[in-house]
Amino acid sequence: MDLSNIQSLQKKFIEDRKWERFPPTQVFVHLIEELGEVGSHLLYESQYKVKGAGHAGEKDSVDRELAQVFNLFLQLCIYLGVDLETAWSAEYKRNLERFDPKVWQDLADES
Ligand SMILES: [Mg+2]
Repeated sequence: MDLSNIQSLQKKFIEDRKWERFPPTQVFVHLIEELGEVGSHLLYESQYKVKGAGHAGEKDSVDRELAQVFNLFLQLCIYLGVDLETAWSAEYKRNLERFDPKVWQDLADES
């Protein structure tokens, strides 16, 4: 399934539930909340937080948290009228010109 199809499915999902009534600001805050839950996974993974040592542990799997982030990100794109596949393709082309792989390989080899 390509990105346009995924975005169309998410749009229908939103419309079927009349979630368009929620303003983009609330969707944005929800997106940040879910990103925070991904951050929590990283803190446990790096053992900065340890379950049973004053921390409750992770709520959902990291796969699920990332999927929730992606859903909310798509929802924000839909609200803002952004075709993510088109926008991503244009940004990818810009980045290919902007970040010369030779320069970055040399920098990595120096460090
Ligand atoms: Mg979550």
